[in-house]
Amino acid sequence: MPDVRARYPELIRLGSTADDPPVIIGQACGACGRRSFPPDPYGCEACGAAVDRLTSTELAAVGVIHAVATVHRHHHPRPETPFTVATIVLDDGVTLKGVLTGDTSAVGVGSRVRGVTVPWDTDDDGTEVVDLRFETVGGEG
Ligand SMILES: [Zn+2]
Repeated sequence: MPDVRARYPELIRLGSTADDPPVIIGQACGACGRRSFPPDPYGCEACGAAVDRLTSTELAAVGVIHAVATVHRHHHPRPETPFTVATIVLDDGVTLKGVLTGDTSAVGVGSRVRGVTVPWDTDDDGTEVVDLRFETVGGEG
């Protein structure tokens, strides 16, 4: 089995097996407890605490779609259009944007999603590079 790495290893920790869900690496504020993603290089947006009060924290890649849209044109060749993006409120309380994968025909506000990885590229040394996507959970989409 080839080595696998995340496209953005500073933001995503892969599970130990292919079936293990990826984990999102966010930040927690030591002053007010706010969690955020992506990590903020300046400090806490909520209370203004300096960046040295922020610590890395792992966020489960499961949540609910808050808004969804299909992209038909954009300025990068990948992902290929059309694709579906969503604003997702993680169960851990953090809101982020993600690209959906799988059957998105029935996806809507309130659909439960979970993080999965999809092939993205292969490094020169043969390492498989994967990227984070979200798919609907258990037919609730
Ligand atoms: Zn704070």
